[in-house]
Amino acid sequence: MDKTNRLYEGKAKIVYETTDPDLLIVEYKDSATAFDGKKKGIIENKGVYNNRMSTIFFEYLEGRGLKTHYVKTLSDREMLVKRLKILPIEVVVRNIAAGSLAKRLGLEEGTPLRSTVLEFYYKSDALGDPMINEDHIRAVGLAEPEQVREVERQALAINGYLGEFLAPRNVDLIDFKLEFGTHHGQVLLGDEISPDTCRFWDRTTKEKLDKDRFRRDLGGAEEAYQEVLRRVTTIGAGGR
Ligand code: 5GP
Repeated sequence: MDKTNRLYEGKAKIVYETTDPDLLIVEYKDSATAFDGKKKGIIENKGVYNNRMSTIFFEYLEGRGLKTHYVKTLSDREMLVKRLKILPIEVVVRNIAAGSLAKRLGLEEGTPLRSTVLEFYYKSDALGDPMINEDHIRAVGLAEPEQVREVERQALAINGYLGEFLAPRNVDLIDFKLEFGTHHGQVLLGDEISPDTCRFWDRTTKEKLDKDRFRRDLGGAEEAYQEVLRRVTTIGAGGR
């Protein structure tokens, strides 16, 4: 499958068209941004780690009956995916309070939540991705009501499956962000699943093993990504 046009270059990925109009190639980069692009940097080899981790998670979820845009991995940094019409909503699933939820509700990071929290954000760089609810999605026509129900169903199923996968690897799935799109009318999971888009904490030490190491200048970001990759590629890994 050959790359043709460069379709889009984002903060962490480049997307190319291919000779097949239904398929795209995603190239994962090492560049990292945070706070609406105000903070910029490089996490060495991040593109390679995120491509591998996304491959593992997509293949695992496909094996559990979830439908994703993943087709196959082409190289260290490249993945072949189905072309999606991206729904302009981001879905965040939370199991433990952290990040913006901890701040907004005045909770200490690490506070367990009594039930899973699902949030929607409007994908708009100009507006800074504001949080929205289903009424906003319906009122503005960002997605059809049945698409929203399908997105919710898949997001909660993904949360359950990822949590089951990570627990024996001594990783807590704190929260994560998903993006969905339609492919010939079917709602599929898109984007990536990696420490860029998920909060992963060591279950024992609560050490952060994700992009918060970059966002918060904690150091050791590359080592953290490498460690998550090590744990997800080691079957039944029990941590360090
Ligand atoms: P928070 O709202 O607490 O900042 O983020 C919640 C979760 O969603 C975190 O796991 C975070 O990594 C992910 N997330 C939310 N928005 C974005 C985004 O724009 N880019 C990335 N990479 N992850 C996001």
